[in-house]
Amino acid sequence: THNNQKLSTFINSGIYHFEASNAIFIDPVRLLNLSYSHFRVTSSSYYSRFFQPNPRVSETQRKRKRKQKKTHPLNEREQAADERHKRLKPFLIKAHECLLGADDLLLTLGKLRNDDCTAFDSLSTDEQSFVELGSVWQAPMFEISLHLNQDYSLIPGGMSVQNCEKRNIQAFGSLVFNETNSDMEADFLNRKYIIPKKSSFYMSDLKQIHGLIPVKNECGFNLIVIDPPWENGSASQKLKYPTLPNRYFLSLPIKRLAHANGALIALWVTNKEKLRIFVEKDLFPKWGVKYMATHYWLKVKADGSLISELDLFHHRPYECLVLGYCYGKDEDSEYISKLKCIPDCQVFLSIPGDYSRKPPIGEILRENIPGLEPSRCLELFARELIGGWTSWGNEPLRFQDSRYFSKK
Ligand code: SAM
Repeated sequence: THNNQKLSTFINSGIYHFEASNAIFIDPVRLLNLSYSHFRVTSSSYYSRFFQPNPRVSETQRKRKRKQKKTHPLNEREQAADERHKRLKPFLIKAHECLLGADDLLLTLGKLRNDDCTAFDSLSTDEQSFVELGSVWQAPMFEISLHLNQDYSLIPGGMSVQNCEKRNIQAFGSLVFNETNSDMEADFLNRKYIIPKKSSFYMSDLKQIHGLIPVKNECGFNLIVIDPPWENGSASQKLKYPTLPNRYFLSLPIKRLAHANGALIALWVTNKEKLRIFVEKDLFPKWGVKYMATHYWLKVKADGSLISELDLFHHRPYECLVLGYCYGKDEDSEYISKLKCIPDCQVFLSIPGDYSRKPPIGEILRENIPGLEPSRCLELFARELIGGWTSWGNEPLRFQDSRYFSKK
């Protein structure tokens, strides 16, 4: 039947299109796994939080929350945020209703975390801290060792070959590339990392980002996804990764990273009104980016319910992806017309991964990317690699540790 077909498309592509709606549901694990030939990201290492049964919130706790909301009148900026939320709400509710109406998909959600391998040990602490390593004086001397000509076909089950050829490259402050069409293993300080096909990374602090600027802007990027370490004042966030004041992001060389034919810019933004205004009034103009539309990531649990109440002021169950267009050198390029019509308020739903990972969005933005295919894609402040993409940040290998993977 039609529904069976939709579900099997989802199983293969990681994307489920709802009937009569622009909303879609995505499985980040399936999308990420399109990048790999011999390994796969395990769903147990990606997901855990929202697969656990509901912690019971007592009725008194709920009442307390409601009371609190009433006793604090909103200030002017909060009112503006509330207005924005009210305008958006119908779109979010409709998208969520689509999910709740798709019985076949709902039945599958609980199984998205089923791996056939051993459970992921999230408590193991032997991971490398790239942020720390990159900041010591020896950083320029650290090398990563790429395994070349690794022939997985030789050994059934694809065991690592010990005597393959290796190439050592400076790990920080240089572009490391897997030019081959299959996964590559790499050793770095006694740990193994998986580098997907045709991917590259540049690991550095913001101060060295100019090393990423292409020599010719025909070699620039058609899609630039940016998830900046915004300051948000919460102590738990500070433990996860260092943050930067907004003014630092003004100096990101977006125009010089963009392709001559222009680039789609996708910027993750929190729900703080002050930040939304900063992006539209200061940041985009400074970057030379024209605002186009905002899309929303609505977060659900494995049972299909929202991760928090839609109206909870400081814990919205959604995040914003602000889209803009960076004009390249060639301002009347034929590709520009393609971008004139990005629909506003599109919603994509998924179950959030651990460590507040953002879902991969390249595939769902595909038709809005200017230029020729395959698009040249860049992720700034990345913590993972994607086949065909360049990742930059101070820890782009973070989720490439072999412990997040199993052999196919
Ligand atoms: N989108 C990512 C994901 O889904 O996993 C999360 C990105 S997180 C919001 C921001 C990243 O910026 C963190 O990895 C953090 O370490 C990095 N970062 C913070 N300060 C930086 C700096 N000065 N230079 C480079 N990267 C930095």
